[in-house]
Amino acid sequence: MNLFNLFHNKTFPHGIHPEEYKAETNAKPTRRLPFSPEIIVALAQSIGKPAKAIVFKGQQVLRGELIAEADGFMSVPIHAPVTGTVKDIDIVNTAKGGKSTAIIITTSLSSGQMLIESDNQQNYLTMSRSELIQAVKNTGIVGLGGAAFPTHVKMSIPDDRSIHTILVNGCECEPFLTTDHRVMLEKVEDLLLGIRIAMKCVDAPKAIIGVEDNKPDVIAAIQPNLPKDGSIQLETIETKYPQGAEKMLAYSLLGLEIPSGGLPSEIGLAIFNVATLAEIGALLPAGQGLIERIITITGDDLEKSGNFLTPIGTPVRYLLEFAGFSGDEIEIILGGPMMGLPIHSLDVPITKGTGGLLVLDKRASEQGDVLPCIKCTQCLQACPVFLNPAELGQLAAARQYDVMEDSYHLNDCFECGACSYVCPSNIPLVQYFRIAKTLNRERHLENG
Ligand code: SF4
Ligand code: SF4
Repeated sequence: MNLFNLFHNKTFPHGIHPEEYKAETNAKPTRRLPFSPEIIVALAQSIGKPAKAIVFKGQQVLRGELIAEADGFMSVPIHAPVTGTVKDIDIVNTAKGGKSTAIIITTSLSSGQMLIESDNQQNYLTMSRSELIQAVKNTGIVGLGGAAFPTHVKMSIPDDRSIHTILVNGCECEPFLTTDHRVMLEKVEDLLLGIRIAMKCVDAPKAIIGVEDNKPDVIAAIQPNLPKDGSIQLETIETKYPQGAEKMLAYSLLGLEIPSGGLPSEIGLAIFNVATLAEIGALLPAGQGLIERIITITGDDLEKSGNFLTPIGTPVRYLLEFAGFSGDEIEIILGGPMMGLPIHSLDVPITKGTGGLLVLDKRASEQGDVLPCIKCTQCLQACPVFLNPAELGQLAAARQYDVMEDSYHLNDCFECGACSYVCPSNIPLVQYFRIAKTLNRERHLENG
């Protein structure tokens, strides 16, 4: 008998229980967003190398057509999200505050938006592992949970490692976001097919879908459809933030610890988000590329909140207009409130990794002044990787970034924001840590 399963209550130590704010959108079926008159397709759609444009200014493109090729192993191709005309290939602002080259397409409203027919339908059962991984790459898919890591790279397991279990992240532990929730209700067949394809890609005999216990409707939708041979299982885990982080998921589901600085494959795991695998299940057999994704639009002062199937490259301004935003916004975040990205321009486009658009006014304005640390230790009790955020915060204030890295394991921080959330002194700990990591990276680059 497995003693871990007998005594383990399917969760991880520490973490927090923030207000969920999901009821506004989680029961609303996904609807298609109308096509924006202009689409801005950044060539940097993943954390890897940007793609290379293969279209030219003035060219007509069809929805689903390849418009940019992958530039090397860590890069993904891009397909046209709309039928239209390439207005320009230019440098644009990105959500991260930087610049990226983008293909700007004027959407054709006269010729309709039929998806281009693919002559490349594929039978995943007869394909070899390397052919399958190449086919995954051809879809242009990246981690849709926000990481935007190229999925084909994650599936390329080194020869000296073997995968015993795929973990499928269906937690969606970020407050406000319900994209994955809707995917798990509406795309069960695609999800299970995507899981089978991923199992073949990494040669894993088993997969476990981890779902938080705040989604009983998801459990009811998936459980009856699981294969009888037990190769794909579903496990319910505690609703707690950040349950969906790879380290937390591995521990909660199997009691396994991913080593500091290591990869899940080092302990025989491969971990994927549910939306990523559902898209693979839909796109790969059809030989199509990723051109749209589901986004949760939610928050304050919106007439139309919900989940919307949105073309990649739709500008945030268009999303807000569609949602009938009428307030005096204080903060607009791409993603959730814990790990999302506050943006400073409404003209930035959504990318493949964007899972939500969150508008905050009243709640954001309730944040108080930053006060001195009162040594309450709440941040230590919240940190899921057992760091000392209070001490790290003091070192950041003293600009001792090298000490943070060398002696206080700064690089184990995955910026979940749990410490900032609980801090009664409103110390923006996670912002300090992001800055410290960026400066350390730059220092290492300078020092070769
Ligand atoms: S942001 Fe970093 S230090 Fe803070 S709780 Fe999360 S992992 Fe720990
Ligand atoms: S939660 Fe804030 S006040 Fe409390 S120990 Fe941590 S940094 Fe200090």
